[in-house]
Formats: sequence, structure tokens, C-alpha cells
Amino acid sequence: MWEGRFWEKIDVGNIDTCWKWKAGRMGKYGNFWRDGKSNRAHKIAFELSEGKLANKERIKQLCGDYLCCNPFHMMKEAEYDNRKNFHGKYKKASEDECWEWQAGKDKNGYGKMQYFTHIDEKRKKVHGRAHRIAYCLDKGINEVPDEGYVLHHCDNPSCVNPKHLYLGDNTQNVNDRVNRQRGYEPKGELHHYAKMTEEDVKMIRKSKMRNCDLARMFNVTDSCIFSIRSGRTWKHVSV
Ligand SMILES: [Zn+2]
Ligand SMILES: [Zn+2]
Repeated sequence: MWEGRFWEKIDVGNIDTCWKWKAGRMGKYGNFWRDGKSNRAHKIAFELSEGKLANKERIKQLCGDYLCCNPFHMMKEAEYDNRKNFHGKYKKASEDECWEWQAGKDKNGYGKMQYFTHIDEKRKKVHGRAHRIAYCLDKGINEVPDEGYVLHHCDNPSCVNPKHLYLGDNTQNVNDRVNRQRGYEPKGELHHYAKMTEEDVKMIRKSKMRNCDLARMFNVTDSCIFSIRSGRTWKHVSV
């Protein structure tokens, strides 16, 4: 197997040390011939450890040593740029505090960030919500799983501390949003509308009493009675 032949050409050490390429070079990088083709040695080492890269996908050697083949010293270039971009844009705080996004925000207060996807052949710059990107970077994933919503434990849309984020589904998202509407109470009409029974509605429609008297009787607003009588509400109840 060629893999054995490949690793023999590397001075493999531990996580912290640079694993130097001992064989030939192509330019400043280590070069490995395979099936008659020249390959960058560090890239092969990365792929053997992290999985195949997309065509033209670039990786960065974080230690700055072009001959180093230690996969722990490498990162996909797009991911590297995203991390750098991300970590420079929030207010540094402790692990438990909210990390306030300092750059652009949308009208709901969520941080906005440009980032690179690195699943395509070409790097593609897209816009995203900073807290979603924070979640992905923390989990080491490209994208939030389908139908997933990244939600805040801390109820602070501009917070990008991964410790305050969790993945929920759409139901949770809606519940969270409803609960967050502080001071929200059902309007009188809406509230009493729900308490009324079909029998009440039938009685109101048959009654000769004035709207205001019926309203007092049922403890609802005049317009509520009017709505019932005119058929705007409780359409399904026929007298
Ligand atoms: Zn290194
Ligand atoms: Zn927070």
C-alpha cells in the first residue's frame, strides 16, 4: 500500500512537534509521487487523517513550516479565515459571560458575518448570522444540520459564546420567540373569545339585548359582541 511508503518519508512525532518531510520537494513543499503524479506531501497527510479535500480546496499550515506533515498543524484555509474573522469581532469576555458581537447586526439584533464555505470546489463567500457560525466553528462542522435552529440559552441575540448556544428545532424557535415578547398578554377580546362557548355565541346571536349590555354580561368588549353578531368571529357556529 502506498500509505505505508508515504508515512515512511515523514519524521512522525507527537501532536506538538512538526513532522518533517524527509524526501524530495516541489518548490518549498514536500513532494510525493503517486500514480505518476506529483502531490503535496502535507496535503496527503491531512487527507489521510481528516478525510478527502474537495477539488482545489486549500489547507493552511499553522506552524508555518512548509515541510511539516503533522495534520494537527493544519486547517482548511476557509475555516482558518472564518475563525480569524470571527474571533476578531466580538468583545472578549469570560467563558460564562455573553460574547457581544461588535460588527454589523441585523434588525433583530443578530450579528452578521461574511464567511467562506469550504465544501465547494471554489471558496464561496456568503453572509450568515454570527451565532450560527459560532456554533459551527465550535462543533467543527460546515453547516448547521438541515432544519436546525441555533438558539440562545441567554436570550441575547448578539451573543456568540458557543456555551450559550444550542441546537433546537422550529417548534422551539417559535416558542422561544413567543416567550421573548416581553409583557405580551392576550388582548381582552382574544382572551375572552377563547373562554366563550358555542352556547354563549348562539345565545348572543339570538338575543335582542344591546351590544354593551351583552358585553357587560359576558365580561368582554363591545366590539367582541359585535364581531360575534356580524359573523366575523365564530363563523363555524350557526344559530
Ligand atoms: Zn508543524
Ligand atoms: Zn450569551
